[in-house]
Parts: sequence; C-alpha cells; structure tokens
Amino acid sequence: MPRIAIISDIHGNRVALEEVLRDCEVRNVDAILCLGDIVGYGPEPSECLALVRANCRLSIRGNHEDAVLNPAHARSWNYAAQAGIAYARRTMTQEALSFLATLPSSFAISETILGIHDSPTPNEEGMTYLKSRNDAIEAFGWFDERICLVGHTHVPCCFTTRTRSSLEVIGPDDVDEHPVSFVDRRAEIELPASGRSIINPGSVGQPRDRDPRASYCVVDLGRSVVELQRVAYDIAEAQRRTLAAGLPGVLGERLAIGA
Ligand code: ZN
Repeated sequence: MPRIAIISDIHGNRVALEEVLRDCEVRNVDAILCLGDIVGYGPEPSECLALVRANCRLSIRGNHEDAVLNPAHARSWNYAAQAGIAYARRTMTQEALSFLATLPSSFAISETILGIHDSPTPNEEGMTYLKSRNDAIEAFGWFDERICLVGHTHVPCCFTTRTRSSLEVIGPDDVDEHPVSFVDRRAEIELPASGRSIINPGSVGQPRDRDPRASYCVVDLGRSVVELQRVAYDIAEAQRRTLAAGLPGVLGERLAIGA
C-alpha cells in the first residue's frame, strides 16, 4: 500500500520547498501530490513550478494560480497578495503560464482520494475556508471518496468519521484555536479504516499556525494513518530572497512567525 506525500501552498518559497522535497526522499514516499498555490506571495514562483512539475505526480490549481492567469480574481486582495500576483505575472515565462492554465481544479484517484485546493463545499463567491468541525460536517456531504485532501488555510488539520455514513465528525472545533500539537516534528493521526477523512497538510511556504517550519503530510494507506510533518528550513535566506525580489517586507517578516 502506497505512502503518498501531500504538499500545498508553496507560494514561491523555493528554500522551503527544496527542504520538504529532501524530507520526502528520506521518508520513503511512493508519490508526491500538490494541492495548488504553487505561486503567489514568494520570490521564486517559476522555480517552484519547475520543482512541482519535476517531482509531483499530480497537481491542481489554487486561487493564486487563478489570479496569475486572471488578475480580476485578486481585485479584492490586500496589497501584499496583489504584489505577489503582479510579480509572478512579470517574471514567469509564457510557457509556465500556459502550463498553469492546464492544471485541473481537482483530482480523484480510484474513488479513494479526492484532491481540491479549498473545500469540496461549493462557493459561488470564490474559495471556501475549511477551518472548523462545522465546516467539515458540511464538506463531508459533498464528496464520496474515503479521503479528501484540501489546502488553502495554511493550517494543518484532520477531520474523520468512524463509519462511511456517520455524521459524527471527529476533529477540532476550530483549527486556529486548537492547532495540531507536534511531538518534536511529527503528529500522527489514525484514519478510521471504514470511515472517511478530510486532511489538510498545512503550507510548505507560508505556515499560519504560529509554527514557522514548513508543513506537509504523508498519507500511509497501508498503516491507515496520516503523518503531519514539520521541516525546519533557512527562513533568513527566504526573507533575503523576498526582499531582493522587491516584494513587500511583510511577506518576509510573516515567515519568521508562521502567520
Ligand atoms: Zn495559499
């Protein structure tokens, strides 16, 4: 049974991504899947896209890819987020932009795993933040697969049900108030064999749970567990590259506090 690494929300942070890819190698994974937001905010969108293309079996498009392809999506975003989109549009090649346009908005693997950037719960106004048990209860009604992988919030978490049809969802009331506690660098959560799960691996390039280490996860289908992983990387170097690219200082500063 395969071990699958899930990465998400890389956001142009190549220093963090390279460290996570190195970590995936030592953790013996069979494949790496990416849940989108490869670009935006950070200084190396092209380099991160090239690494995802070389290393990930599947990838989808996040809202930052959508905004790079059509800046109208970013009209209501804050100044720093818009600066990241403008920088990506300015520096990425036409070939890279064309590739972004080919990425699907979700993937499904043999009726077992669904991958989507934000949430299976539809939202006509844009992306959905799946951040609480109530959000998860609603989301479980919108997919049939055993495991649904989501990103977007930049906060790692896992919600489960004990049986396929159970409406009782196990997980934090609110992921911001009850973050996963990591023993050193790893937290392991059991995936009920006959239940269903929603898993968020957190963010590689811009964690927002006050732990600045890069976040990703390994879904071990043989052991039926998800290993939430944290990986230290050279944050000072990522900050230096952010400033050297002329991006707003706040985009480097937030990396140090994981916010
Ligand atoms: Zn993101």
